[in-house]
Amino acid sequence: MAQPIISPRDLEFILYELLQVGSLSAYPRYADHSRETFDGALRTAQGIAENLFASHNRKADLEEPHWVKTAGSGGRVDLIPEIGVALKAYADAGFFAAHQDYDRGGMQLPWAVTQACMCWFYAGNVATTAYAFLTVAAANLLNAFASPEQKTRYMAPMLEGRYFGTMAMSEPQAGSSLGDVRTSAEPAAGGLYRLNGGKMWISGATHELSENIVNLVLARIKGAPAGVKGLSLFIVPRYRVQADGSRGADNHVTVVGLNHKTGYRATTNTVLALGDGGECLGELIGEPNRGLDYMFHMMNEARIVIGLSSAMLGYAGFRYSLDYARTRPQGRLPESKDPASAPVPIIAHADVRRMLLAQKAIVEASCALGLYAAMLVDRQKNDPDASVREDSHLLLEFLTPIIKAWCSERSVESNGLAIQILGGYGYTRDFPVEQYWRDNRLNPIHEGTNGIQAIDLLGRKVRMREGRALALFLADSRATAKEAAAVEALQEYAAKLSEALQTVEQVTAFLGSATARTGASRILANAAAYMDLLGCTVVAWMWLKQAIVACGKLHEATGDDAAFYRGKLQTCRYFFRWELPKTATLAALLKSLEDTPFEMQDDWF
Ligand SMILES: Cc1cc2nc3c(=O)[nH]c(=O)nc-3n(C[C@H](O)[C@H](O)[C@H](O)COP(=O)(O)OP(=O)(O)OC[C@H]3O[C@@H](n4cnc5c(N)ncnc54)[C@H](O)[C@@H]3O)c2cc1C
Repeated sequence: MAQPIISPRDLEFILYELLQVGSLSAYPRYADHSRETFDGALRTAQGIAENLFASHNRKADLEEPHWVKTAGSGGRVDLIPEIGVALKAYADAGFFAAHQDYDRGGMQLPWAVTQACMCWFYAGNVATTAYAFLTVAAANLLNAFASPEQKTRYMAPMLEGRYFGTMAMSEPQAGSSLGDVRTSAEPAAGGLYRLNGGKMWISGATHELSENIVNLVLARIKGAPAGVKGLSLFIVPRYRVQADGSRGADNHVTVVGLNHKTGYRATTNTVLALGDGGECLGELIGEPNRGLDYMFHMMNEARIVIGLSSAMLGYAGFRYSLDYARTRPQGRLPESKDPASAPVPIIAHADVRRMLLAQKAIVEASCALGLYAAMLVDRQKNDPDASVREDSHLLLEFLTPIIKAWCSERSVESNGLAIQILGGYGYTRDFPVEQYWRDNRLNPIHEGTNGIQAIDLLGRKVRMREGRALALFLADSRATAKEAAAVEALQEYAAKLSEALQTVEQVTAFLGSATARTGASRILANAAAYMDLLGCTVVAWMWLKQAIVACGKLHEATGDDAAFYRGKLQTCRYFFRWELPKTATLAALLKSLEDTPFEMQDDWF
């Protein structure tokens, strides 16, 4: 279809009208930037994403990575060539280092703008883009914690797109519970460590797309404490790197097999054996036993990327189904009595518009929320005021599990609605909406399942620093409600948001005190309902923020622009009338300490 995969007008609205990213140029780090440079980066991203990423999205899904036996060396994984071509263009355009310092070859673009650029890639072809975002996140971790020498040897070529990165945490017996990681490390000559063990599910750990692969591996140094407090983080390259940067011997990171996935197929996913058949050497990052703390640097970034990329898969499905609904003739309106009259396009049916509204409400707010979080990263790193940096950090900590879990859960639902709008055609492989759903189905699972995110939110994030993170969110959203209350057209929503915020506050306090009486297990049993309550409230806040901007602009807007703002207002109305009321049911369930799943017995199933 001819229209762009996501709406450039909406991206522009979120960046410039809602978030006002132009204000970031006030920070010395971004002083060289302006709307002109931001738009330049966005246009470049759109061009490469549409022409080189989206163009092979289907082919890479059909022709998934496969193992090819080669004489002597065992074999290699073959990918379709378009993946390499796309990533080369991505590297040549400087996207691997877009947010990095000038003296590292970067452009010092704000993270919010970098992520807005990434929206094009996530929507165009998430599986090819995964090689890039894993590499960027691994390089960011090295930037934060590696030694200067490690940065020169490993991070610098990653920023050029010559080396790619992975995060190698999971093992067959250690998925959600990383404290059970068994891969071991013991000191070897030259300050290195010898690694032994098996890793499971490692994305991007085998391919011929880059000169080397830098695996960031969680392992336990022999004699270290049990559990997460005994984990250390190692750089374990596919090929050893000599002091002068040249490629050394094979490092015995052996691929035992490829996992064959439902979606996200262009990204290789591997079972690895470390140290099988030869010495596998790693370099310790930072201090021993601090590995998981360091890894959280990468995981927190990745969780926002997951939420945002999930929203973009939802967005791509929404746009496709919207276009389809406008052109697919089927049926007549209930008032039409003439069977010989021409059928109407299905968008004329209110139930189809309901499904489109539901998608628009999820994906546009999730996109706004993900980019809002990216802007918090910019503030956290650059604001001259220490209290702004601290508050941005806390708000980000609070929002991260919500962005990861709520946005991914609902964006998959959104993709389901896109399939529904295409009817039988949506269920075939002749249309892209089923692939968006399959690709997106991973997002509630990896980077900490949504169940784990909900436990993290209720068990930790809302209580951190005596509830300061939650208090910051409540204060910010109450300020939005107050602003909206002054606009006649928004008073209904301002009142509803205030009510929902009060509910969140009461439910959180109630569950906090109930934990002391009943124990954590009983309370955390309902964490998914708490996540939904919070997610809906946060997204209502995002919608009200958008509605305030739209109301302010509508009176002077004409033509397409007026329709755009009316669309924002109508979608805000949809969310407040159809979705937010569900929070009352969730709150009642939580406050009753409903215990059906908790009390259910294994042998009753
Ligand atoms: C395609 C793909 C790519 C991946 N890429 C990577 C990668 O690059 N690097 C990497 O290290 N890992 C990667 N993973 C692994 C991923 O992070 C794990 O699959 C995930 O953390 C869940 O672990 P698991 O699969 O072992 O499931 P389990 O941990 O066995 O969980 C199974 C179910 O039980 C629930 N559960 C488990 N523990 C609890 C608990 N304490 N309380 C409540 N519920 C619980 C979970 O929520 C889930 O629903 C990838 C996975 C996939 C499928």
